[in-house]
Amino acid sequence: MTVELICVGTELLLGNIVNTNAAYLAEKCAQMGFSCYFQTVVGDNFERLTQVLDCAVKRSDIVILCGGLGPTEDDLTKEAAAKYCGKELKADDHSMERIAGYFAGRNIKPTENNWKQAMIPEGAFVFDNYNGTAPGVAMEFGNVRIILLPGPPNELIPMFEESVTPYLNKLTPGVIFSQTVKICGVSESKAETMVKDLIDGQSNPTIATYAKTGEVHIRVTAKADDKKAANKLIKPVVKELKARFGYDIYSTEEATTLEKSVVDLLLANELTLTCAESCTGGMLSARLTNVPGVSEVYKAGYVTYSNKAKKKLLGVKKSTLQKYGAVSKQTAEEMVKGMAFTSKSDVAVAVTGIAGPDGGTKEKPVGLVYIACNVKGNITVKEFRFNGNRTKVRESAVMSALMLLRSCVLEYYSKVTFGKK
Ligand code: ATP
Ligand code: MG
Repeated sequence: MTVELICVGTELLLGNIVNTNAAYLAEKCAQMGFSCYFQTVVGDNFERLTQVLDCAVKRSDIVILCGGLGPTEDDLTKEAAAKYCGKELKADDHSMERIAGYFAGRNIKPTENNWKQAMIPEGAFVFDNYNGTAPGVAMEFGNVRIILLPGPPNELIPMFEESVTPYLNKLTPGVIFSQTVKICGVSESKAETMVKDLIDGQSNPTIATYAKTGEVHIRVTAKADDKKAANKLIKPVVKELKARFGYDIYSTEEATTLEKSVVDLLLANELTLTCAESCTGGMLSARLTNVPGVSEVYKAGYVTYSNKAKKKLLGVKKSTLQKYGAVSKQTAEEMVKGMAFTSKSDVAVAVTGIAGPDGGTKEKPVGLVYIACNVKGNITVKEFRFNGNRTKVRESAVMSALMLLRSCVLEYYSKVTFGKK
């Protein structure tokens, strides 16, 4: 079945806001096994909205529109969709009550135009909005389903998860179930080459690779009568992927991020961690401390931008900084040596590099980063040369620090068998 997305809003067309709803909806629909061949952005204009809707309805099974369900004059998605389908808008008692309840709970008097949001096309299915006033709507037009969702992501996402997902799942016979194998430290082209025979040879489950910064995700999606049968189809493929990628797989859980897998690894081995960052300025610590439960492992983080801070807080020698410079293998090594000592942690990780755009030389260009890791006295230092602008260099450095941290701990405890099972 095909899904088509239409995001409505002049703000989107002008580039004033980023179309995160499209990215979210497209990813969710793909996970559910729908094919999305078209996405459109259209302004708050009745005729042009009708035009793109007409086009979408003729080529797709499900059309999802988002935005323009608000109370004001320029919010006209529902009006345009209802008119296109030849349906009258009628006041819906249930939605009226919910809107009244929403305002009463906040002690605010609704304005007259708020009731416009309770006007629902006749015969339509309503998705309640638990985070705002605009209900979502699903309409049937011939064999096509037209779904209207509010624009604000904090309303659209919970509505999609709680109500639209079960609605869409009912439209496809059987169930579509997927599992994601998350890989780090392998380039997308290499990962794709490693699974090309699997991709070419299979239709159920399907195998698709997605590249992220420093990571590749492989999604295995199966269609079957029930979840158990789908799982049975997925399991041997995931097993095969584990055999091919081994330790480079950091998780097979959708919700597990690389930083969470690192924290879990430290927790499992009862290891404490300290970070010292120069060019990443705390980004590594921020990623790690985003993980709930990290306080069991994370002891301290230093942002040692200046040479003075590297000397004073981490005990890097003046002579080392003078001889090799702040961005060097030797400095990175001393950063993790000193830090493990001062904070008495089991594991220490340090990042020092040139994020640019200035500060690069022929010998030490922008993008040169050294990352060191100390696991109970075993020190590893790696040199990286990242491409891209300042943001990209810093992001790549954080990803690589997480990966190095993970591989050093795994190496230290080489008994750990994750990924080999
Ligand atoms: P409202 O009741 O707030 O008017 P609405 O359903 O009419 O909601 P819009 O007016 O189109 O939605 O957008 C409201 C806000 O929601 C925008 O200012 C923007 O912050 C956010 N938004 C809308 N569409 C998108 C989108 N495609 N991606 C990300 N954010 C969006
Ligand atoms: Mg609006």
